[in-house]
Amino acid sequence: MATVMPAVGTPRRSASCVAETAGGIAALSHPSPNFGERREGVRPDLVVLHYTAMQSAEAALERLCCLDHEVSAHYLIAEDGRIYQLVDEDMRAWHAGAGAWGAVTDVNSRSIGIELANPGDAPFAAPLMAALEALLVDILRRHAIPPERVIAHSDCAPLRKSDPGPRFDWRRLALGGLSVWPAPSKVSKPDEKAFLSHLETIGYTAATQPETCLSAFRLRFRPGATGPLAPADMAAAADLARRYPVDRPLLLT
Ligand SMILES: [Zn+2]
Repeated sequence: MATVMPAVGTPRRSASCVAETAGGIAALSHPSPNFGERREGVRPDLVVLHYTAMQSAEAALERLCCLDHEVSAHYLIAEDGRIYQLVDEDMRAWHAGAGAWGAVTDVNSRSIGIELANPGDAPFAAPLMAALEALLVDILRRHAIPPERVIAHSDCAPLRKSDPGPRFDWRRLALGGLSVWPAPSKVSKPDEKAFLSHLETIGYTAATQPETCLSAFRLRFRPGATGPLAPADMAAAADLARRYPVDRPLLLT
């Protein structure tokens, strides 16, 4: 049987093989070379969600596994719900870049990164959302990560990033206990200083400019909202700050 060798200079595509995550979720193993050690041996206690901003999962897979691009994620979920594992959860995948959430400034060392196949301006496919929910249930349970620590790339890098964007259904995740969503609460008068203080309490520590903070917050919790700081922004931020202060001491039981 003839063996076809790739021409010189042709990037080799590594094949996916059937595997499962540490928690037994069906996944395709498609290793990326783009990872390192988690610094100081820390364990992941955040999950960061992204969109790929590419036209297909296949194109994203190639990019996330290409040495030249120096990007990766632990998982990529395709539109049809297939889950690819690219980097072992014990390792530090290169997905978040510069940013911060609360006291965490090396987000990559402290997080598990999940890329969602989506061009950025389209609804997220139903099979993809179902697969994401199953994967999050498994990850949060195994690492004892609370739902408020499932965040957007735009939350920890608001100056550079806007993914997974306004089309992503955070409320749906929250209803399943896989993220958080503001509860209706008493509406208060817009107060920029108080709003920024609420955001810092929630975890938005990567930016201090009021416009950047408001945009990042709305991308996540008030998609489609425009204009100056509104009573509804104040109410949502105050509720989240009260219930989910980012660096509260962990209750050891
Ligand atoms: Zn991203």
